[in-house]
Amino acid sequence: MPERVLAILNRPSLDAPAHDPDAVPVHFADVAQPHLSVMDLAATRGDGVFETLSVCGGVPLAREHHLARFARSAAMLDLPAPDLDAWRAAIFATVAELEPAAEAFVKIVLTRGVEGTNLPTGWAYAEHSPEFSDARTRGIRVVLLDRGYRHDVARTSPWLLAGAKTLSYAVNKAVLREAARRGADDVIFVSSDGILLEGPTSTLVYRRGNTLLTPAPDLGILDGTTQASIFRFAAARGMQTKVGVAGSDALRTADAAWLLSSVRLVAPIRQIDDTPLRVEADLSAAMNEYLLALRE
Ligand code: PLP
Repeated sequence: MPERVLAILNRPSLDAPAHDPDAVPVHFADVAQPHLSVMDLAATRGDGVFETLSVCGGVPLAREHHLARFARSAAMLDLPAPDLDAWRAAIFATVAELEPAAEAFVKIVLTRGVEGTNLPTGWAYAEHSPEFSDARTRGIRVVLLDRGYRHDVARTSPWLLAGAKTLSYAVNKAVLREAARRGADDVIFVSSDGILLEGPTSTLVYRRGNTLLTPAPDLGILDGTTQASIFRFAAARGMQTKVGVAGSDALRTADAAWLLSSVRLVAPIRQIDDTPLRVEADLSAAMNEYLLALRE
C-alpha cells in the first residue's frame, strides 16, 4: 500500500457540473505526476479553501467539525458549496488506500478551478505524519506578532476573510520565517489593538488555575477542531473551560500555554518572546495521549 495517496473528486460541488459525467466520483491519481492546471485559480490566486485532518489508527479525527469548517470557509469565499457527502467519501477512500500508520494526515482542497470554467477543482491527499515528539515534549518557543487587523475585523471587514481557511497561506508561512529569524519556532498573532488571536496554523490554549482558556472564534480566527477536543478532555477531568477576549498580558501571566493543531497536536509553549514558560509535561502528555486515542 502507498505511503502517499491522491484522490481527485469528479464533482466537488453539486452547484457545478461534474468534470466528466461518465466518471466515478473519486479516482486515485499518481502523486508523482502533475494534475493541476497552471490556470487553476488555486495556483494563480490562492483562491480556494482547505482542511487538514489528523488520521490516527486509520481514523480521520474530528471529521464532521472539519467538514463543517470547510463548508463555512467555502461560503465565506462565495465558492460553490462543497458536496460534503462526496468529500466525506473521498476522505474515507483516501485513508483506506493509505499504508496504515499510527499517525497520518489527509488534506482536502477545494479551488475555484480553471479560470473561466466555473468548474471547481477538488482533491484529497494523504500521507504519513512527520515526527513531532520534540515539539510535544520539550515544547516550542513562540513570538507574538502583530497581525495588523483589529480584533473586530471579521465583523467590520468580512471581505478580508479573517477566519476562513483559504489557500492564501503565504503570510502564515512568512511569519514562521520571521519567528526563525527571532530564534523561535512558532508565532502567536495579536490584533493591532493588542488582543490574543491564534497561531498561523494552530489555536492558542492557556491555563489559569483550573481553567483552560482560548480566544473566541469571532475574533476572525479559526474555531480549532483540536481545541474543541481538548476542551472536552479538560471538562472530563473536572477543569473549567472558557472562550473569550484577552490581551497578551493574560498569556504572559498564564500558568501554562499550548499551541494546538491537527497533525502536530498539542505543543506546549516553553518560551514567549524572551520569557520562559513552564512546560507542564504530564498534562501535555495526557492531552496528546487523549487525542491519539480518539477514534472519531
Ligand atoms: N488556526 C489556523 C490559522 C490554522 O491554520 C489551524 C490549522 O491549520 C488552526 C488554527 C488549528 O485548527 P485545527 O485544530 O482544527 O487543526
